[in-house]
Amino acid sequence: MSTVHSHRAGDIAVLTIDNPPVNAMSMAVRADLVAAVRSAASDAAVRAVVLIGANGKFIPGADIREFGKPITGPSGRDVIAAIEAAAKPVVAALAGHALGGGLEIALGCHWRVATPGCQLGLPEVKIGLLPGAGGTQRLPRLVGAARALEMITSGQPIGARAALDCGLIDAVVEGELLDAALEFAQRVLAEARPLRLLSACNDRVAGTDLALFDELLSKNAKKWRGLIAPQRIVDCVRAACTQPFEQGYALELASFDECKASPQRAALIHLFAAERDVARIPGLSADVAARTVASAAVIGAGTMGGGIAMCFANAGIPVWLLDTNADALTRGRALIEKNYATSVARGSLTQERMDRALGLITGTLEYAAIADSDIVIEAAFEDMAIKQQVFRQLDAVMKPAAILATNTSTLDIDKIAAVTTRPESVIGAHFFSPANVMKLLEVVRAAKTSPQAIVTTMALARTIGKVGVLAGNADGFIGNRILAVYGRECDFLLEEGATPWQVDRALQGFGFPMGLYLMRDMSGLDVGWRIRQYREQFRDKRLRYSPIADRLCELGRFGQKTAKGYYLYDGRNATPDPAVEALIEQVAKELNIARRAVSDDEIVTRVLTAMANEGLKILGEGIALRAGDIDVAYVHGYGFPRHQGGPMYWADQRGWGAVYETVRHYHASQGALWAPAPRLVEMAARAQAFEQG
Ligand code: NAD
Repeated sequence: MSTVHSHRAGDIAVLTIDNPPVNAMSMAVRADLVAAVRSAASDAAVRAVVLIGANGKFIPGADIREFGKPITGPSGRDVIAAIEAAAKPVVAALAGHALGGGLEIALGCHWRVATPGCQLGLPEVKIGLLPGAGGTQRLPRLVGAARALEMITSGQPIGARAALDCGLIDAVVEGELLDAALEFAQRVLAEARPLRLLSACNDRVAGTDLALFDELLSKNAKKWRGLIAPQRIVDCVRAACTQPFEQGYALELASFDECKASPQRAALIHLFAAERDVARIPGLSADVAARTVASAAVIGAGTMGGGIAMCFANAGIPVWLLDTNADALTRGRALIEKNYATSVARGSLTQERMDRALGLITGTLEYAAIADSDIVIEAAFEDMAIKQQVFRQLDAVMKPAAILATNTSTLDIDKIAAVTTRPESVIGAHFFSPANVMKLLEVVRAAKTSPQAIVTTMALARTIGKVGVLAGNADGFIGNRILAVYGRECDFLLEEGATPWQVDRALQGFGFPMGLYLMRDMSGLDVGWRIRQYREQFRDKRLRYSPIADRLCELGRFGQKTAKGYYLYDGRNATPDPAVEALIEQVAKELNIARRAVSDDEIVTRVLTAMANEGLKILGEGIALRAGDIDVAYVHGYGFPRHQGGPMYWADQRGWGAVYETVRHYHASQGALWAPAPRLVEMAARAQAFEQG
């Protein structure tokens, strides 16, 4: 069965790609397309060709089942070569998604028409690749370098109207797509229009201001650090503007092969799949549907509450912001306004959108006002008695169908649920600071949380632009529990011979946008200090404990806010402080630790091994559903470099046998904190990787 059907409409050949379910570009589709185009080209009765997809879909990109496999048979480039060789007008009729290799084929055609709902884009960068069938060369020749760069480096698709505005397509078709495409082809024939081969069009790229490329690279220096694909995309589009097509085309192929061979690509594909799977919750009946969340309330107008309210408003959901007194509300509102105003000043938000969002946030002191909200998220002080008091009030006033969520970071959600008459409606919704920016939302399932509350909160995460990861109700949930281990090992490394700046440099070298100590200084050391002071009474004194952070706080060094923390600050500029090094040496002396040279490699390996071991414990305890969920949480909540795939993926790549060896080494020298996860023994024995199932 061919995946491309041909039929004739008068003197126009209609080639229909039909590869259920979505018309993905498989090896068979490419081969069948080449054959069908050649056959139409050699048929003297055919004067033009329309290329269309079956069932209202064009080509949404490569067939995911062929990811990572060697390409056999004709490539996308061969399909385009056949179209160019046909020397007859070829019109692409686009609907649904015209993405990746699908859009590249459309760019190889002479003209393009699309339905109003069509989405067009080159998303390859998201899996560490670049378009390899001429996309980096043809798109700039059609829409100009700036627009092409934006589309290819972001990977974000655009709608048909925007595509028409920038010249990517020639018409938006309201009625029947095939009829309109045939009509377009007839017009081309009637007007005897010269064939428009993009490989031969240079007018849009000639005269491009080449400063554009360096500006883009420097603007994205932080975001793209260590990433190969975006840099190569810039190189290729630059070549499209400065070199003949054939040279740019060759550079694109070489760059594509380089990206394909890089381990980054495999890591990014892993995350792509993990992000898709994270919303799947095994064991829940398919009958449980998410409830619509059309209104919301947030309790506590502080740092987190304000940010959470912004998330709802940004998604167009009206939200109440409730606090105990008018001053707190005024302060909270002023902070929200300031955050929005910063975005407007930066150009990332229009004044109109800011006004609309602010119009959706309403302050109140009265519980009665929020009673009809579909969900309420409590973000009051981190104090069990206060939270229980809030939940008693919520239980008294909220409509029966409402979801009652808490943003607690450390408290037991079962104890909060227990004061209500409806623990099945109580759930954790753990946002990360700043809540309006950070993508991660840990959705915490307490003992009695209903499937409906889980499904609704997970769906809400998506609605408000977050990545929801389901976690169990245990101290630190997923993310902060691993963070504790990460911080602990860095602190021990300081005592053993490293400096904060060396640890940060090593972690940044691995790809973290910010090292641990810069991050701590930025968020403020006093918060953690207060938590540790409270927890001191419960701490197991037999286990190793690093007092360095406490010592800094005792000196009033709270980080950026006091201009001193692990580093010295001039505004936001950090410089190493010899006094901190002296303090660390002093602590090591008191603890009888002989300092030694520590390598960057040891820092990275030790920290990541500890994270992976803890991750396995979390999995074993059922706190996380899948290894991939831990990776997704780390990438979206903790700055784990995306191209390294996450801590569990890192361990997969290193090999669990090697991870076990490292854990055993530290277990012998460090004791119980390094106890191997029960599953680690099993993983190492079977040399099993999560990736292989
Ligand atoms: P915050 O001190 O900035 O704000 C708390 C707000 O709650 C204040 O405006 C206060 O007036 C109000 N409030 C206190 N008691 C209240 C009550 N009974 N009813 C109504 N409002 C009340 O605190 P925050 O940093 O926004 O943290 C809020 C919650 O979010 C805490 O549970 C915290 O653990 C959690 N959290 C914080 C972070 C973070 O990084 N700050 C991250 C995740 C979760």
